[in-house]
Amino acid sequence: MSNNPTAQSPAERIIGRIAEIGTGFKIARLVPSRQRRTIGAWCFLDHAGPVHYQAGGGMNVGPHPHIGLQTFTWMIEGEVRHLDSLGSDQLISPHQVNLMTSGHGISHAEISASKEAGTLHAAQLWIALPDAHRHTTPKFQHYPELPVVEQHDFSATVLVGSYFGETSPVDVYTPLLGVDLVLTQSATITLPFDPQFEHGITLLEGTAVVAGEALVTGELLYFSTGHDAVTIQAEAGTRVLLIGGEPFAEDIVVWWNFVARTQAEMEEARADWLAGSSRFGTVAQPDIAGARLVAPSLEGIHFKGAQS
Ligand code: MN
Repeated sequence: MSNNPTAQSPAERIIGRIAEIGTGFKIARLVPSRQRRTIGAWCFLDHAGPVHYQAGGGMNVGPHPHIGLQTFTWMIEGEVRHLDSLGSDQLISPHQVNLMTSGHGISHAEISASKEAGTLHAAQLWIALPDAHRHTTPKFQHYPELPVVEQHDFSATVLVGSYFGETSPVDVYTPLLGVDLVLTQSATITLPFDPQFEHGITLLEGTAVVAGEALVTGELLYFSTGHDAVTIQAEAGTRVLLIGGEPFAEDIVVWWNFVARTQAEMEEARADWLAGSSRFGTVAQPDIAGARLVAPSLEGIHFKGAQS
């Protein structure tokens, strides 16, 4: 297995890095990476679990703010309770999506639904909002059911955008694709690509050979625009996450939980959160949501690519 694409392969391999969210909960962060800051408008991809946790463990991310993005959660196993400053108190169960559009400002907490021992397996992504919508009024949407396409060798859930003639109800602001796909038998399958889109493929379970490249969980293969299909060879039970979109045309700055355009916007969002500004409201059920996360320092940080 090579870490560099071969002459025959159009793909670029990205090795996720292990990061910690909340208290001691480890995830593989696949976007952004040194090589790729965005794939379409997807600007963040964490693969959490699968992890078996003890009583009192699991996800425990206290109230924290967002601006300029949508948080997108795809639950594979386990249950998490979402609480936010709009008053939402929503349990997310397997095969469901939570979408939170932060717009100008929102705050939320994500905690395991039960204090008992359990399992958690999820993907959490962020979608950068285009300039025309990034200051929009915040909203939260729960999608209990997504369209599923049964093919001969696999079952595909259309999470975002359209695929195999099915369209996801998930509300996004730029041309975007998200598909969860599970092989129902060992097979070599061919997945169509929109040549206008760039794409990323990661494995949520199992191993596969993707476009001739061996791939394991914790890695992502990136494909630039101009490809019309990809071939995946894998065993039954392998779970693939395909994301894609038109390359995001705007320069963005991503720091902590914020997506912005300028240094000043970042500093203002941080100060507003630390000051307890009404911009970010108060998360529902504060007793359950836990302690507010503290924004890290911005001292000495100068964002490359930030507009002045
Ligand atoms: Mn969040």
